Amino acid sequence: MKAEIIAVGTEILLGDIINTNAQHLSKSLADMGIFVYHQSVIGDNSERLTEELNTSFKRSDIVITTGGLGPTTDDLTKEVGSTYFNKKLVLHRESLDKIEYFFKTLNRTLTENNKKQAYFPEGSIVLANNHGTAPGCIIEANGKILILLPGPPKENKPMFENYVVPYLRKFHQGILISKTLRICGVGESSLATQISHIIENQTNPTIAPYAKENEVTLRITAKASNREDACKLISPVEHEIRNILGDNIYGEGETPLENVVAQMLIEKNLSLSTAESCTGGLLSGSLVNYPGISKIFMEGCVTYSNEAKMKRLGVRKETLETYGAVSENTAIEMAKGVAKASCTDIGISTTGIAGPDGGTDEKPVGLVYIGLYIKGKTYVKKLSFPGDRQSVRQRTVTSALDFLRRKLLTI
Ligand code: ATP
Repeated sequence: MKAEIIAVGTEILLGDIINTNAQHLSKSLADMGIFVYHQSVIGDNSERLTEELNTSFKRSDIVITTGGLGPTTDDLTKEVGSTYFNKKLVLHRESLDKIEYFFKTLNRTLTENNKKQAYFPEGSIVLANNHGTAPGCIIEANGKILILLPGPPKENKPMFENYVVPYLRKFHQGILISKTLRICGVGESSLATQISHIIENQTNPTIAPYAKENEVTLRITAKASNREDACKLISPVEHEIRNILGDNIYGEGETPLENVVAQMLIEKNLSLSTAESCTGGLLSGSLVNYPGISKIFMEGCVTYSNEAKMKRLGVRKETLETYGAVSENTAIEMAKGVAKASCTDIGISTTGIAGPDGGTDEKPVGLVYIGLYIKGKTYVKKLSFPGDRQSVRQRTVTSALDFLRRKLLTI
């Protein structure tokens, strides 16, 4: 079964917003074993949208549109869809009741425009919108399926997951089950080399590596008639990969690195403080993403200047003068200093040259030191990152968290 996605909205064409709906939909459809060979973007224009529907339905069985279901005149997806299949728009009472109720609770007056959102192509399946006023719908006609979803991702995503995924399941046999392993500390090409014999011989399950900023995810996908059989196919391959990659695998599924580190700290009952220079709060911000971090995260200092490093963390003047702010010695004194000042078991620091300026032959842009103090012992890691300022900062955060994770595995 082939599907394609048409994002409707002039804002996307102008570059004002990013087409994140297409990303989410494509990923979910791939997970379901439905092939997506085309994605397109069309402005709020009925002629061009009709033309696009014509082209899309020549190639695909299912077309999913996003956007243009709102109350204004430039919201025209439903109108174009119904005309395309020669269907009349008819009132859906339940949707009108919901829209009226929504306006009443907000104390706003319902206009005739808003009522337009309660009209659907005759015979279509209406998809409730539990997060906004524009319901979606599915039109089945001439052996083709047109699925109209709202634009805002907060509405689009739950509608797709709750109603469209169960609807589409009936069109494909068997199921696809994926397991994602999250890896840090090995580059994508090194990882591919280490498990090349597994990747080269893949059939079912298949293995797909994806590189992100300083991490790699490995998705193992099996196709079978039921979940249990799919898991049985995944298990030996996962086991083999785990044997090769060992501690480089930090987690599974959607769990980010900061959650893994936070959980380890909570389990071990170790308190933490951070002293950041080049990451300027990104490291503590990332840790604070984890709900419940307050059990172990005490304090984060952004000590950007030398003065702040001396005043807040007790970094010695001689250290800064002899070795510089971006050095092994400074990183260690920062980590030790913040742990002491905050009375925590662990202190972690970042200091580096994020660029674009400030690099020298001896200390080029991308040079970073991470300092770690754990219960009286100090450790330091020197790193050299490619990329722009944001990339260097983000990579430093990932590396700092991974450095801490690996040390925690040993204590
Ligand atoms: P509603 O009337 O319920 O707001 P709609 O279905 O008419 O929704 P649009 O008016 O096309 O949707 O878009 C509303 C907003 O949704 C946009 O301003 C944008 O913020 C977001 N949006 C629309 N399409 C996309 C997309 N493809 N990816 C990400 N965001 C999108």
